[in-house]
Amino acid sequence: MDSKGKIILVGAGPGDPGLITVKGLKAVEQAEVLVYDHLVHPDLVGLAPDTCEKIYVGKKAGCQTLSQVEINRLLVDKALSGKFVVRLKGGDPFVFGRGGEEALEAAESGVPFEVVPGVTAGVAVPAYAGIPVTQRGMTSTVAIITGHEDPGKEDSDIDWPHLALGCGTLVFYMGVANLEKITANLVANGVQPTTPVAVIESGTTENQKTVVGTLKDIELWVNEAGIKPPAIIVVGKVVELREKLNWYESSPLFGKTILVTRSREQASEFSLILKKLGGRVIEFPAIRIGESPEPEAVKKMVENLGDYDWIILTSVNGVRVLSRYIRESGRDVRAFGKASLCAIGPATARELESSGLKVDLVPESYVAEGIVEAMKKLGDLSGKKVLLPRAEKARKVIPDTLRSLGAVVDEVALYTTQKEKPENLAEVREKLAGGEIDIVTFASSSAVDNFVELIGREEVAGLADKIIFAAIGPVTEETLKNYGIEARIVSPVYTLESLAGAICDYFVVQGES
Ligand code: SAH
Repeated sequence: MDSKGKIILVGAGPGDPGLITVKGLKAVEQAEVLVYDHLVHPDLVGLAPDTCEKIYVGKKAGCQTLSQVEINRLLVDKALSGKFVVRLKGGDPFVFGRGGEEALEAAESGVPFEVVPGVTAGVAVPAYAGIPVTQRGMTSTVAIITGHEDPGKEDSDIDWPHLALGCGTLVFYMGVANLEKITANLVANGVQPTTPVAVIESGTTENQKTVVGTLKDIELWVNEAGIKPPAIIVVGKVVELREKLNWYESSPLFGKTILVTRSREQASEFSLILKKLGGRVIEFPAIRIGESPEPEAVKKMVENLGDYDWIILTSVNGVRVLSRYIRESGRDVRAFGKASLCAIGPATARELESSGLKVDLVPESYVAEGIVEAMKKLGDLSGKKVLLPRAEKARKVIPDTLRSLGAVVDEVALYTTQKEKPENLAEVREKLAGGEIDIVTFASSSAVDNFVELIGREEVAGLADKIIFAAIGPVTEETLKNYGIEARIVSPVYTLESLAGAICDYFVVQGES
């Protein structure tokens, strides 16, 4: 890296964090100073190293924390102090992003700089609304225009007469506040009042909202829907294609808000599945994974892993915690020796396989009873040494049945499931009461117990007509029932994919009826 430092202007994309470029992502991951503004997704800021100095410079309409001149100076000063400075900006840095001014300041100060272009909102946001900005046979030109400028301004920088008649698709950025003037001006300059218009708020995110109309009436619909910035206005025949191409807003869970009650460590995997299906996810960790209550037993177990005939893992978390204990003892996967491995389901098996281990047995049904059935089929278990590393509180089906079949079973509590008080408790309580959450998901009985304790038994019972409760299988369903709550969605199989699938199926059926 240059001793003199450098500035990289990086486009973060319009909203969906997946729309940053590969090159942009690498720059963020190496940043020593990250200067970002309002439209940048927090997940992207979180990808900068822990040691990186992260500076928020605002830029939300009306409340700027630093002026543009101050931002330009800040970038140059940080680079001159020898730092690798990443300037992360919404969309593309050179499209209404004032990246040009920042680059000029760098050039004039003799600071090396690079530009990593980004996916600009004017093209990507319509795409997520099912609108291609150009289309053969419809339009071969597209204009990118600021809607920020008052169209009534005397010496306008925008050539309205030519724009109105000379361009195909018109894409306005920053135009919501001026919508009425923009549409009136286009009509006054000769554009047909029946020309289709779409206004898209927070495009490419789970909060995307699209309103379609014509130049004549779009303002009415926009006001009715309460559209706010950031929004893109698209004017032109291409808007009609949305009727057939509206892929993103047709995702199975689009528009649904889903509460994930898993522990902080485990939540993101499920959140990702739900987000891919278009859902708006709120993580609400009702439980926390705590240390083993019997560290001595864990130590002994790790030393003797290779002595067992079978080791049964009943959760992904169990595999992770066990791997950590093995690492901490200075060992590696060889500690498993000749022991055969059984995983309760495909996710647990995948977790073991990711360490290079071969899984010998996965039962047909992913529950304790399934393991017992599968083990029985292996033949005589008498005298077989079986290890069951598990959560502190666990059902006794596996050890009791295996012992009754003559196996010698050691149980070790790897971790405890403890109550958690999520930081967003007050906010979630309000959203639940206000009907702003559509589905509450539970992937374990302990999450149910703690959720009920956090929200209150009566309050939860009172939510039943507003909110859909979803359980990962019959055991979790039963726990809900004990609190008088009916799970309207129960996944047939104990996997997160199956739970997500059951949620989608529920809405498909609802949609049909
Ligand atoms: N450099 C950015 C544009 C910044 S100007 C880019 O290339 O995309 C800010 C304007 O961009 C907003 O007022 C809005 O018109 C548009 N915009 C940015 N992100 C958007 C989003 N997710 N949805 C709709 N419009 C967006």
